[in-house]
Amino acid sequence: MDTAISSSLLQSLHCSQCGQSYSPFTRQTVSVCCQMPLLASYQLNQGLNKAELLFREKSLWRYAELLPVLDPRNRVSLGEGFTPLLALPRLANTYSMRQLTLKDEGLNPTGSFKARGLSLAISKAKENGETACIVPTAGNAGVAMAAYCARAGLEAVVVMPRHTPEAFREECLAYGATVILIDGLINDCAAKVQELNRYGDYFDVSTLKEPYRLEGKKTMGYEIAEQLNWQLPDVIMYPTGGGTGLIGLWKAFQEMKELGWLSADQPLPRLVAVQAENCCPVVETFWGRQANSKQYMGRPTLANGLAVPRPIGEPLMLNVLQESGGTAIAVSEEQMLEGVRELGRHEGLFVAPEGGAIWAATKQLLHEGWLRSDEHILLLNTGSGQKYLDNLKGIWQTQEHT
Ligand SMILES: *Cc1c(COP(=O)(O)O)cnc(C)c1O
Ligand SMILES: [Zn+2]
Repeated sequence: MDTAISSSLLQSLHCSQCGQSYSPFTRQTVSVCCQMPLLASYQLNQGLNKAELLFREKSLWRYAELLPVLDPRNRVSLGEGFTPLLALPRLANTYSMRQLTLKDEGLNPTGSFKARGLSLAISKAKENGETACIVPTAGNAGVAMAAYCARAGLEAVVVMPRHTPEAFREECLAYGATVILIDGLINDCAAKVQELNRYGDYFDVSTLKEPYRLEGKKTMGYEIAEQLNWQLPDVIMYPTGGGTGLIGLWKAFQEMKELGWLSADQPLPRLVAVQAENCCPVVETFWGRQANSKQYMGRPTLANGLAVPRPIGEPLMLNVLQESGGTAIAVSEEQMLEGVRELGRHEGLFVAPEGGAIWAATKQLLHEGWLRSDEHILLLNTGSGQKYLDNLKGIWQTQEHT
């Protein structure tokens, strides 16, 4: 069979825990069997040739066959994806590193990589005939959902912690969303969402509680491979909250192997989960200091996106870390701010505190010898600093003297 351009190869959904399959053609949340995330699979044996990508649009929709939207008219797009992959020669030189690159997700619509996930989730919501969406958020996901809902003509309700920087709230309002502020972290917001949605009036697009945000996030993996001419980096540093990026990158690498887009003998990158000391459930579980994060208590951090104390996707994240030979590491608030300052001053990049955290963690792992200076290390900067001004005000005065 010939595969027409932009026709999705979506095949089925299955429970990430037990494998039971579910229809990809109706509203789905978590699996009924295990209450765990559902994963989408595709017919990857259709002879899809990566050379076909060459002349396609520079957005994540260039991978349309590997995305779940069935009818292209349901795409809700603001131009997300195909963000630049930049070399960081000045920092590499200062720290004697051979190859240091940064993928700048801050250049996505609404200023973060959340645009990828929400573009897909809202496209599928539209395809499934939803009329209203709701999300608990640490900030960026809410802004992205509000924007894509506005674009799709859907009602949007965003529930965020009261301490979230003001810019996030204002931008949600700019897109016509209803914003509800909660004293607490994202898990408290999630409880509020459950209460508001007890009759199922809204489509709940919480991280990994619907199957398609992950599909949007996985396109980062496709882009990294394509932008590096199908030679993956040795290590990817990822700021981890709910973990969709981590799980999505790994899913993309597996799919590309099946497609034959990556040579079978090419080693895949080691993936590193970077968290904030104030809220580092995955680090604690990874290092065996707790059985899982179901009782973990987190505190707020300047990297709002990392304040996810009890991520539903934790087992999937731990799998990825183990399979890829990666690790998990937490950094302090001061370390991540120092990371933000260095990326700004030496490379002209104004990154979110999450981006500062991965650079801080990179230096730490180099120091410990887990990273080698001759490796290609890719920093996945997930967001722009511009919405975090409330968190970053005044930090520039603290000059570093090394
Ligand atoms: C949401 C967010 C993260 C964490 O992403 P997950 O997919 O939840 O792991 C990291 N950085 C920023 C800027 C975010 O908005
Ligand atoms: Zn199951």
